[in-house]
Amino acid sequence: MRKKIVLACEKCGSRNYSTMSNNGAERLEVKKFCQKCNAHTVHKETK
Ligand SMILES: [Zn+2]
Repeated sequence: MRKKIVLACEKCGSRNYSTMSNNGAERLEVKKFCQKCNAHTVHKETK
């Protein structure tokens, strides 16, 4: 089942990205650029 998820920076908690997930079971972890940290950080799925 598809659902909308929000990706938040692991370091500062900024919700920088939102995406659609086609896998409800797995928790997403993506390396993306965070403007607040001014660096690439791990972004994790949040609700
Ligand atoms: Zn950050």
